[in-house]
Amino acid sequence: ILIATQLWKDFDGLEVVRNASLQLPAGRTVALLGPSGSGKSTLLSLLAGLERPSRGEVFLDGQALSPLSEDELCLLRRHKVGFVFQAFYLIPTLSALENVAFPLYPTGVPKRERQARALELLSQVGLAARREHLPAKLSGGERQRVAIARALVNRPRVLFCDEPTGNLDSQTGGEILDLLFELNLEQSMALLMVTHDRGLAARADETWHMHDGEVSQ
Ligand code: ATP
Ligand code: MG
Repeated sequence: ILIATQLWKDFDGLEVVRNASLQLPAGRTVALLGPSGSGKSTLLSLLAGLERPSRGEVFLDGQALSPLSEDELCLLRRHKVGFVFQAFYLIPTLSALENVAFPLYPTGVPKRERQARALELLSQVGLAARREHLPAKLSGGERQRVAIARALVNRPRVLFCDEPTGNLDSQTGGEILDLLFELNLEQSMALLMVTHDRGLAARADETWHMHDGEVSQ
């Protein structure tokens, strides 16, 4: 579902991703491990079409990303990609339900369906009863569950998670991970997750290691 061929990325001459060639099939969960500064977040940004590589190509669902304009890339991300970050980045003035529905605003999905889909996802992450709460009234684990529901509302082909449990205590983190794996089984999307926790990584189908910009599968 996601293929990268000989990806390179440099920032002002500093090579952060070096010659990464990867394949991520549908339904797979991959944990990406590596020391701080090894290039994990940068690799995720390249694969998700958030940044452009210096060289190499990313194919998402058979579509090469480099020929796409910014608008076309944005559209592709909107339809095929979900992203969960360590910080939850919820919109503080919107309720849990509105936060989950938010990515659907520019897609032309009618309001009624936006709300129905958002509510369905909030139920899947166990937060239907909290749908009217503002993020400030939710716990860290609940906020991350809202962020996961939001990342899934467009039914992505690939879900990227950058240290999704990094801000949570280990029990809550474990619960978030259970949830991600469960949702992944249901939706048969590909899941690529950065984590520093080897215990969590062991639960993925595959582990990739990153060192000084080089990835080994
Ligand atoms: P961490 O585990 O700490 O999150 P990481 O493996 O995710 O680290 P990256 O964030 O990908 O590492 O950063 C890799 C290197 O690229 C670092 O040296 C960083 O300073 C550099 N870098 C990342 N983004 C940029 C940018 N936009 N401009 C310049 N340098 C950058
Ligand atoms: Mg990072």
